[in-house]
Amino acid sequence: MRAAKLYDVKDLRVEDLADPNPGVDEVVVKVMACGVCATDVNMWRGTSDEGDFPFVPGHEWSGEIVEVGSAVRDYSVGDRVVGEVCTPCGECVNCKDGFAAEACMNYELYGFKPENPGGIAEFHLARANRLHRIPEGLSYEEAALVEPAWVAYNSIWEAGGGVGPHDRMVVFGCGPIGMLALLTGKAAGAPVIAVEPHPYRRRMASELGADVTVDPLAGDLEEQVRFHTGGRGATLVVECSGNDGARAGTLDVLANRGRIVLIGLGGSRKVPIDLDKAIFKGATIRGGDGSSFFLSKTLAFLSRGIVDVGRVITHRFPLEQVVNAFELGAAQGESSKIMILP
Ligand SMILES: [Zn+2]
Ligand SMILES: [Zn+2]
Repeated sequence: MRAAKLYDVKDLRVEDLADPNPGVDEVVVKVMACGVCATDVNMWRGTSDEGDFPFVPGHEWSGEIVEVGSAVRDYSVGDRVVGEVCTPCGECVNCKDGFAAEACMNYELYGFKPENPGGIAEFHLARANRLHRIPEGLSYEEAALVEPAWVAYNSIWEAGGGVGPHDRMVVFGCGPIGMLALLTGKAAGAPVIAVEPHPYRRRMASELGADVTVDPLAGDLEEQVRFHTGGRGATLVVECSGNDGARAGTLDVLANRGRIVLIGLGGSRKVPIDLDKAIFKGATIRGGDGSSFFLSKTLAFLSRGIVDVGRVITHRFPLEQVVNAFELGAAQGESSKIMILP
């Protein structure tokens, strides 16, 4: 099969690899679409050391099962599926305490190291216990958005306590996850203010339904948000940028008793934040990421037809042009979700 393999920083090649052979509890998936994640791009350009070279990247894949191992009971050839990014060990204390897979102390990640290849390839080998069926009516490209959508959906509904028409929501950072947070808020009837310095991404946020877009570099952000919320501030702030100023600004724009969900990673930098505001406002601050408990809920959300999730995709590349796709992603400019179509 043809597959993309990341050998080192800026050394991504498309080459012939052996076709995968399923073990008893595994399936082979013909990959139909695989999203390029900021994490993939950051490992390629050397701004993330999450990966362990060399490996086949890609954890946002969707596809069709073409082969099943002898002990697989619930899936058959022809099933349309997506897969979880990691599998838990089932043995550690966090697994025993019933936490989701990503809290496991020995979890296995796919698309980050040599022994667990990812989905930027013609075929992907997956243990059946990672799989979820794609609901009818959801295309392969839409289904491949489930991983970033899942981060936004879980962060808002679990970590953020949900969202409703009574909320006043602010999203910092309009990359793909910020856009999916915006769609989640709009689907629940909340007015959404999108904060984003890049004009292309602000325009895209407006097109996807943001009630107001704000350039954080043009004037006082707290004043701008107060102006658009009748002086009250935001009841739910979803921080997707990882930017130091944005992180510090979350407490400035927050209403009394508001909730902040932090999603965007900031490279482990320490950021000066006026935490007195958290005390006086009675703020709830939570971290948000994907949770395996929320993947099927997110698939249900995407399949209801209430948001046009495919509009988050701005570019598509064939497998052979994966380097161009990564270069475009690294430019962080006029693109949102980039899909590889093997
Ligand atoms: Zn991702
Ligand atoms: Zn575990």
